[in-house]
Amino acid sequence: MATIGNSFALLRYGTGRWGLHAMSSIGFVRLVGPPIGVGRVSVHRPWLFRRSLCVKAAISEEEAAKTAVAAADSGATTIFDKIISKEIPSSIVYEDDEVLAFRDISPQAPAHVLVIPKNRDGLTQLGKAEERHAEVLGRLLYAAKVVAEKEGIAEGFRVVINSGPSACQSVYHLHLHVLGGRQMNWPPG
Ligand code: 5GP
Repeated sequence: MATIGNSFALLRYGTGRWGLHAMSSIGFVRLVGPPIGVGRVSVHRPWLFRRSLCVKAAISEEEAAKTAVAAADSGATTIFDKIISKEIPSSIVYEDDEVLAFRDISPQAPAHVLVIPKNRDGLTQLGKAEERHAEVLGRLLYAAKVVAEKEGIAEGFRVVINSGPSACQSVYHLHLHVLGGRQMNWPPG
């Protein structure tokens, strides 16, 4: 059984997404991602604990996004460059000459795949897109549909693009999140 202390350590360890996912559980804290800790947390008033997690998560995710955007336009490489070059392993779902799709390291749904252009070409975020990017943007969207089929979620899935700090984008290499395998809610957070 995990302790509360361990759970807060986990929130500090990663981005706010840990906390957001923890918040989604009713009566227990569920932490997903690398196997650095999974467990139940017993508290007398779990809803208050979850609210605390939520606030901490929102703050840390915003802070992480602000930090990330500071380096975004410097041309600096991102973790996705290392995934493209296979320097860092990933679970690849689909690949062609222009597009790579791989499972998110911190899934927010039973199926959660990131679809990225292999050549960033200035597309640090959707908000930086120019007309010359129209073709690759179309390819990314079509690849999202192929990914949904491969993941068995073509009947219902969501595609998300976080663009910029107020959308909590954390990696400045354009990417589509393809999410499915559970009921999605609206409006999104
Ligand atoms: P954003 O917050 O920028 O919209 O999404 C970035 C996504 O990249 C996050 O969902 C995060 O979990 C994922 N991510 C960050 N680092 C890695 C990594 O090293 N491997 C994989 N597979 N996903 C990553």
